[in-house]
Amino acid sequence: MTYRAPVSDIAFTLFHSAGFARAMADGIYGDLDTDTVEAVLEEAGKFATDVIAPLNRIGDTFGTPFKDGNVTTPPGWKEAYTSWAAAGWNGLAAPEQWGGQGLPQAVNAACIEMWNAASMAFGIGPVLTMAAVDALNDYGSDALKKKYLGKLVSGQWMGTMQLTEPQAGSDVGALRTKAERAANGSYRITGQKIFITYGEHDLTDNIIHFVLARLPDAPAGTKGISLFLVPKVLPDGSRNDARAHSVEHKMGIHASPTCTMVYGDNGGATGWLIGEEHKGMQAMFTMMNRARLAVGLQGVAIAERATQQAMAYARDRKQGPSAIAAYPDVRRMLLTMRALTHAARSICYATGVALDRAARGKDEAARKAGHERASLLTPVAKAFSTDIGVEVASLGVQVHGGMGFIEETGAAQHYRDARIAAIYEGTNGIQALDLVTRKVPLDGGATVNGYIDELRGIVRRVTEANDPALGATGARLGESVESLARATQWLLARKADATALAGATPYLRLFGTAAGGCMLADDALASLRDGSSGAGRVALARFFAENIAVTAGGLEREVTEGGDSITMAEAALA
Ligand SMILES: Cc1cc2nc3c(=O)[nH]c(=O)nc-3n(C[C@H](O)[C@H](O)[C@H](O)COP(=O)(O)OP(=O)(O)OC[C@H]3O[C@@H](n4cnc5c(N)ncnc54)[C@H](O)[C@@H]3O)c2cc1C
Repeated sequence: MTYRAPVSDIAFTLFHSAGFARAMADGIYGDLDTDTVEAVLEEAGKFATDVIAPLNRIGDTFGTPFKDGNVTTPPGWKEAYTSWAAAGWNGLAAPEQWGGQGLPQAVNAACIEMWNAASMAFGIGPVLTMAAVDALNDYGSDALKKKYLGKLVSGQWMGTMQLTEPQAGSDVGALRTKAERAANGSYRITGQKIFITYGEHDLTDNIIHFVLARLPDAPAGTKGISLFLVPKVLPDGSRNDARAHSVEHKMGIHASPTCTMVYGDNGGATGWLIGEEHKGMQAMFTMMNRARLAVGLQGVAIAERATQQAMAYARDRKQGPSAIAAYPDVRRMLLTMRALTHAARSICYATGVALDRAARGKDEAARKAGHERASLLTPVAKAFSTDIGVEVASLGVQVHGGMGFIEETGAAQHYRDARIAAIYEGTNGIQALDLVTRKVPLDGGATVNGYIDELRGIVRRVTEANDPALGATGARLGESVESLARATQWLLARKADATALAGATPYLRLFGTAAGGCMLADDALASLRDGSSGAGRVALARFFAENIAVTAGGLEREVTEGGDSITMAEAALA
């Protein structure tokens, strides 16, 4: 079973619970109209469904063979990538000045979901190029922008993002790759990077590496890191002193080449500084935040694809008197898959809308509010969505029974592919720490408290709607939001001590659960208002509230009461 982009569901969530229609009404998007957005989503859905999705399986089986420093991508991939880029998809949200279309990040987010649902291994490459475009546009010199942005925006060249080294994973500050100043204003880069996505491939004739390195006089830790643009092919057409040494054999995303990169076999690769010396993490954070949302969208994407496949199988597979889709336990699995997917989608798209408000808000206060909302939601979008991506893909295997464990159905590939998204772009544990230590305390807690108040507003509207089909949705969501509110106040008071950090992951899950449940309910209310497939959305929101949001009380306890049992458990870990 292949993938069909669920364009109308995607558009509905984007316009309603994610807040795109409200942002339009606030004038954020100028004269952009609904029809244009819907047409873009429709076309993206067609491309993802017709061109990329059929390549997913061959990508998994063919992988990325590596010989003499070169990577061969699977049959059909280069053609698909070239026509995808030629259609302008790479530059959808990129600045018009550099050949992009300047469309909203939120619309691009919906498209990123579709590319990655069609094939995660395909989708991850362009995601990094788009993130590189943002960093170069925000921090690059005019000369670098002139030379590189146009081709990165068009997708004629792809970008990579290079932080990780053997001793420097989550602890980026431990990186050792060296940069030395050269006479002509460029730098010489020497060192090794590992796990570099699309570090080498044959999709484009140049690859632009965005490499973190350290100057000889750099302060220790993250305050001494600089960011360099290091092209595979130099402007004079010669090969740079940079090469892929090997490609990893992985559990999933087999068609995404994950490379060990070596710089400086012959005296140092030529690189150019992006931003200021020692301030590379600033630019890298721009890149990482974009990529984090995109990886969250990979979680949504793989969950959507796994759900579609499980639904089709469950309707078809007969056991006993009926198809398995009729049995309550299978219905529970299918509803869990669908509800979690929709919740994560809504959180990710809302993060896209917040990014748009940060960039396009009418005044500084509006832009600051957008920026803080995006900052708050980004770790949740990344970690909640990729955690549920794994869970939903696992349920997808379970719905298939034994056939789920057999590779030919494809359910197993989704599960294998989904697993990496919870690890790269900062593990989900690191996202939870970011949420608790940096994002919850934003503006003295005002950012998170303002968000919780908005969730309370949705709960109020659900309760007032008083629709019997919503069952106990208002009550259960209300409880989940109050659990989030109490856990938040507790964290703000603890100021990230060890006990608070022990509860970071359950707190992030609690946040995603309360927010996701409210967003499903918001979509249900919207569909009741405009009569569009209201029954389905109401039933899904009710399922979420009565079966998933009810875990919030337990998560609150884990956050506020479970920490000591972790920090004082030496005996159990001996
Ligand atoms: C397929 C693939 C593609 C990748 N692509 C890229 C890429 O393109 N560019 C790039 O630069 N990197 C890339 N990476 C690297 C990836 O981002 C790292 O693997 C990831 O950030 C985790 O680092 P690590 O593997 O060293 O794990 P570690 O940092 O060793 O973490 C191991 C465990 O310890 C936890 N942990 C670590 N530190 C802390 C802490 N302070 N507090 C609490 N928990 C902690 C982590 O959450 C994790 O569970 C890729 C990796 C893979 C596998």
